[in-house]
Amino acid sequence: MTEDKNKKTEKAQKINGVRGMNDLLPADAAQWAHLEHVLRDLTRAYGYEFLRTPIVEATAVFQRGIGEVTDIVEKEMYSFEDRLNGEQLTLRPEGTAAIVRSVIENNLLYEGPKRLWYTGPMFRHERPQRGRYRQFHQFGVEAMGFAGPDVDAEIILMGQRLWDELGLKGVRLEINSLGQADERALHRAALVKYFEQNAVQLDDDSQRRLLTNPLRILDSKNPVMQALIEGAPRLLDFLGDESLKHFNAVQSLLKANNIPCKINPRLVRGLDYYNLTVFEWVTDELGAQGTIAGGGRYDPLIERMGGKAAPACGWAMGMERVLELMKVSGSLPDTVPGCDIFVLHQGGETLIAAMIIAERLRSAGIDTILFCPPDGQSASFKSQMKKADASGASYAVIIGPDELAKNEAQLKDLRSSGDQQAVALDQVLEAVIDALVGASE
Ligand code: ATP
Ligand code: MG
Repeated sequence: MTEDKNKKTEKAQKINGVRGMNDLLPADAAQWAHLEHVLRDLTRAYGYEFLRTPIVEATAVFQRGIGEVTDIVEKEMYSFEDRLNGEQLTLRPEGTAAIVRSVIENNLLYEGPKRLWYTGPMFRHERPQRGRYRQFHQFGVEAMGFAGPDVDAEIILMGQRLWDELGLKGVRLEINSLGQADERALHRAALVKYFEQNAVQLDDDSQRRLLTNPLRILDSKNPVMQALIEGAPRLLDFLGDESLKHFNAVQSLLKANNIPCKINPRLVRGLDYYNLTVFEWVTDELGAQGTIAGGGRYDPLIERMGGKAAPACGWAMGMERVLELMKVSGSLPDTVPGCDIFVLHQGGETLIAAMIIAERLRSAGIDTILFCPPDGQSASFKSQMKKADASGASYAVIIGPDELAKNEAQLKDLRSSGDQQAVALDQVLEAVIDALVGASE
């Protein structure tokens, strides 16, 4: 007995969310909905089709699709074994590898090239800080089956249009060309020679990458490495005619569309699979996490993932960083107003009448909140009225026992006049529509 009593008084311990993985709270939902709306319009404007892949994939998708010697695969993936069948699985850390997996599996390039987009949560085990989370959200576009510089320019124009649409300030485009594998091999030899000559200055990560993927040393964020990286041989100087032609064509198309860009010879991107054009959109407004989006061409990837060779390019943006930059730019939309109508009652028969009217209003497309007493019993009209005011509703519909006895409701203006009028119960919808239309004129 005593034991049971003790248990009752013991407060259950609360369970927190996982570090670096955030709730989207109601107060912020409208901003996300706005961003998602703009993204849908953008993709429609350019003829991109939506493709959704699962959040979990076989680990091999990312090992092969991103490359073993990358931050993501080396240390950031949430990988686990399915304890029921032993499959090696991973929470997706990015979109492209999974999209390519799906395109191959579903034979989506069978009838020719495809323009695709995706959005959703991604997972990386990083140190959480402003603009860097363990669950974050990306939006991305992928144009598959197009080899020319036209589509590189197209996806960059999409990005620029998006920043304009969202009112982002201070976003710069940086661009580079990674050429082709043979050109990178020549550059790689020069790079290895340079870094070997300066081996004492390399940090641990770079020591290792010198043997596995020296190009990625250029991607290092370690401040003490920056001077050394600055002096390294430039890949651009190793590009052949074809690669230069592609790179120049992209730049001319951007120029013709008044898109300024800066060539950044050290831009190599974090993923292994890129070739030719690579680019990033950066800002100084978000501190260390200044890259809001990045992408480029990845012609070898589809074949490398087991599909029929086809060129491709795309980019991905971090939605949290973009929303943060919208905040800094003062371009977040005002939070949307609440419902149209708040319905008050006194329980019993009045609840039944109120609920029927609320449903009738909703069927007519009018956003309606029905008062529900927190104690499940009843509440005074005074306290209900406070809730009605706070709801953002334009009008209240009030049904008390006196009104019900006369088959009436009161319709009260909550915004301007505060006027109140009696309306027959079967005329409430018409009266509400008249009032709402009148108020919006
Ligand atoms: P960073 O250099 O900041 O680590 P990245 O090169 O790893 O970025 P990508 O893999 O190119 O990033 O992902 C595209 C975009 O997704 C980034 O430009 C960024 O806006 C966003 N992003 C990447 N990682 C995170 C994260 N952990 N939290 C929030 N956003 C992220
Ligand atoms: Mg990263």
